[in-house]
Amino acid sequence: MKIALITGVTGQDGSYLAKLLIEKNYKVIGTVRSSRCTNRTNFKYLGIDNHIIIEELDLLDMANIVRLIQKYKPHEIYNLAAQSSVGLSFEQPIGTFSFNTMSVNNLLEAIRLFSSNTKLYQASSSEMYGRVDSMPITIETPMHPISPYGISKMASYFMIKTYRESYDLYVSNGVLFNHESYLRSNNFFIKKIIRDSIAIKNKKLQYLKVGNLNVKRDFGYAPSYVKAMWKMMQLDKPDDFIICSGKSILLKDIVEYIFDKMNLDKSLIREDESLFRPNEIEDIYGDNSKAKKVLDWDYGYSFFDVLDMLIDEEIN
Ligand code: NAP
Repeated sequence: MKIALITGVTGQDGSYLAKLLIEKNYKVIGTVRSSRCTNRTNFKYLGIDNHIIIEELDLLDMANIVRLIQKYKPHEIYNLAAQSSVGLSFEQPIGTFSFNTMSVNNLLEAIRLFSSNTKLYQASSSEMYGRVDSMPITIETPMHPISPYGISKMASYFMIKTYRESYDLYVSNGVLFNHESYLRSNNFFIKKIIRDSIAIKNKKLQYLKVGNLNVKRDFGYAPSYVKAMWKMMQLDKPDDFIICSGKSILLKDIVEYIFDKMNLDKSLIREDESLFRPNEIEDIYGDNSKAKKVLDWDYGYSFFDVLDMLIDEEIN
């Protein structure tokens, strides 16, 4: 039986990945920062609550990581724990940068020194690319991150590459573009729009307050994206992959689609400049052809398929 350790297991991706690996007959160890206040809502929703071994882990303490690696001898580690909000990273730049980079450095050192056969997946992000000169973004596109979050992910991305090239370890970056699901935290854009729209429909909210809608994003469906993570760990050699839908859509079109679907009056959409970010990427979309070819990863959803699924799941 294969053994996988997932950090950040309570989050959207951690929960879907745990479900996938359990279905594939892995023994899954999920790590949390504190077992006293672990939120198991996602596990219950996916019916996997009794199938994950939960361990407390401080990723800033390398000795703590070594202890868990020696206890379970995982074949694969998926490092998904991070301060994952771009917006919050402007309010907490030091905390975001310190945690998102030191946690990866500690995992790499623990693997290099004590468990060099363990494979490591690092959750990298399209935010590393930031403002680019040409699109679609490929793994070779020069990076120009424009948020503390993007910078933290870029530093870890290069640390992974450096360890792979210097020590011949199986460590890979999955560079994922935005991906959504019912399990996404409420403070993320699409989830927030759908929830607020339902609240307007139910007369619990008067209007929709949004930030800058004049930007474009490439987003996809989280359960499908976590399959790509697993496929990356099954290759003979480690490598980095862009995982995305391959197109971008205006945030305004997303909001209007959700409003139309719920028969809401579009005059209730209010852009509020206080919600604009200090620095915003105008448009971003990636090239998923390498993932489709090398990983045999199949992604067939349109933006509107994903929105329909999210709206239905939220209403139900
Ligand atoms: P998420 O739902 O926000 O989950 C983040 C996880 O990290 C949670 O389990 C959280 O634990 C944990 N975490 C946060 N800060 C921590 C800390 N200081 N110590 C220990 N654990 C901590 O994020 P996600 O959407 O699943 O994303 C998973 C990973 O992929 C993240 O690294 C994210 O940056 C990256 N990523 C996500 C996307 C996307 O569109 N979703 C795109 C590209 C990359 P608590 O439950 O204790 O808060």
